[in-house]
Amino acid sequence: MSIVDKAKDIYELVKKDATIELQERLMEFREEAVSLQEENLKLRERIQELEEQASGRDEILFDGEVYWRKRSDGNGDGNKEGPFCQKCYDTEGKLVRLQDAKRLVASRDWLCVVCKTAYGQFH
Ligand SMILES: [Zn+2]
Repeated sequence: MSIVDKAKDIYELVKKDATIELQERLMEFREEAVSLQEENLKLRERIQELEEQASGRDEILFDGEVYWRKRSDGNGDGNKEGPFCQKCYDTEGKLVRLQDAKRLVASRDWLCVVCKTAYGQFH
């Protein structure tokens, strides 16, 4: 029996003889129980989401400016992919591949076409 059902049960048992104040308190208690149950459900979903992300995640390395992805299924001999946008990863959790900016704007090495941040050497 959930905490919400228990609260409802208690409410039904005592409401006949309860004062108005006690009835109000019991209503408040039920409402709090409902919101706790909803919060609990959301947290469980979030945990599951994070566990799924964590189990499938390759190693993400930050070199001081941009992110690189190291494939976890390799034998760790520097099978590196990238670079990826630091801003997009830190704010959105998304690995956005950087484009070769020399073809596009020519002043930097890489450009994120999502957030328009440029990285790398100035040219
Ligand atoms: Zn970006």
